[in-house]
Amino acid sequence: MESNKVRTRYAPSPTGNLHIGGARTALFAYLHAKSKNGEFLLRLEDTDTERNLEYGEKNQMDTLEWLGIIPDYSPINPDETGSFRQSERLEIYEEKVKELLNNGNAYLSWHTPEDLEAELEKQSAAGKENPRITNDFLRYITPKENAKPSVRIKVPDDEIYEWDDGVRGKMSVPSSAIIDWVIQKSNGIPTYNFANVVDDHLMKITDVHRGEEHISNTPKQIQLYKLFGWEIPKFYHLTIIINDDGKKLSKRDESVLQFIHLYKERGYLSEAVFNFLSLLGWSPGGVNLENEIFSHSELINIFDIKRFSKAPSKFDVKKLQWTNNQYIQKLNKNDIYEFLNKFVEEVNLSEEQKAIIFESFQPGIHEGIEIINLIKLFIEEPEAIDEFKDSLRDSKKLLVEIYSKLDDLENWTSEEIKQIINNTGKDMEIKGTQLHFPIRMAITLKAHGPELSKIMEIFGKGKSLERLKIYETL
Ligand code: GLU
Repeated sequence: MESNKVRTRYAPSPTGNLHIGGARTALFAYLHAKSKNGEFLLRLEDTDTERNLEYGEKNQMDTLEWLGIIPDYSPINPDETGSFRQSERLEIYEEKVKELLNNGNAYLSWHTPEDLEAELEKQSAAGKENPRITNDFLRYITPKENAKPSVRIKVPDDEIYEWDDGVRGKMSVPSSAIIDWVIQKSNGIPTYNFANVVDDHLMKITDVHRGEEHISNTPKQIQLYKLFGWEIPKFYHLTIIINDDGKKLSKRDESVLQFIHLYKERGYLSEAVFNFLSLLGWSPGGVNLENEIFSHSELINIFDIKRFSKAPSKFDVKKLQWTNNQYIQKLNKNDIYEFLNKFVEEVNLSEEQKAIIFESFQPGIHEGIEIINLIKLFIEEPEAIDEFKDSLRDSKKLLVEIYSKLDDLENWTSEEIKQIINNTGKDMEIKGTQLHFPIRMAITLKAHGPELSKIMEIFGKGKSLERLKIYETL
């Protein structure tokens, strides 16, 4: 591996399904690496065993793959740096913890969370205005029998932790804002901040992308990098994603589908989701911004790490639907068939009929799942209600005429049908909606739908004429 090669990573905890925010982080880390001919890694931060969910790992990996975010290295394809599951790297962390204990930069701590709570209460009771835990308190060591200690790192009094954030610019936090923190829990498991830094260093990560909620962790991590004498990666703390009400997207927010696999299930194309996510907090420079459609490889080509947004980005469902529609429109015959047939496999129509139906709805579909309702037009036998008949009464003559012309038609194709409708219109001097609306209503009992002549072709001559005969009841 070249030493100056860009290496980025997505480091989820497998505590649930791939969330919109996580997918966007992975996407930017991926685009960053690929735009620089670098490598993108997927590392599972699964040390919080109680929070891990069995399906979490699989969902995260499968969904990233569906999106086309393929890691160069991952738990199923690790490199020489060892396992890509933190739970399988405990010896590595243990060794690093020992190093800090041996050189006096860390110490065993028997304080439990309850002890800290009690100390704060004691200070309050004594009238102290801002009760707080100090390093002096923490470093006053009182070993407890039959208890297991955690390990805390010593935070120096007068250091400054600075970094030039790729999204926020210069950031700086004094060490006095941090107290000695736990690097290894009493059960021997390292904390997130510790394992994350050890792994990012050993895995030669050059650029770290993550949500802004991790800004508060960064000073602690920088402390570790400095202590170990390791090179500090460049940090990119991505701004939050908000919903329509301006609230941060959260897994419990029901106004937006939160998990990426749900979009797959509703009939979103992965390229559309990829495209949409790439514009959540980033924008390309020097290209036509009116055009928001960028392919996977185009995004890799135009990706510029200097163009992250500092403002929160809005998750605009309408825009996602629009993007999906743009991609659906571009599908070829085979692909649109395969894409839509998944939703209506059980529907009893021939392959040819379905192919015509899918193609005729293709331009207007925003989510693949819409086809379930749309196809009902071809399988249900609705009853015409009186009110509806009233609206057709004025067009009785037209319907009678169309009926008789179509009755004579032998070659029942949409082109011929269209021709007959138009010619009849001309002969009777009826055009536009006045011509098409009554025929559409008679045929489909609906005001809107795909191209009328196509519907009639799929219905077939018998059913089309039968429907037109509604004029007999007007
Ligand atoms: N496991 C952390 C998370 O899921 C990773 C944060 C990071 O990328 O450093 O939030």
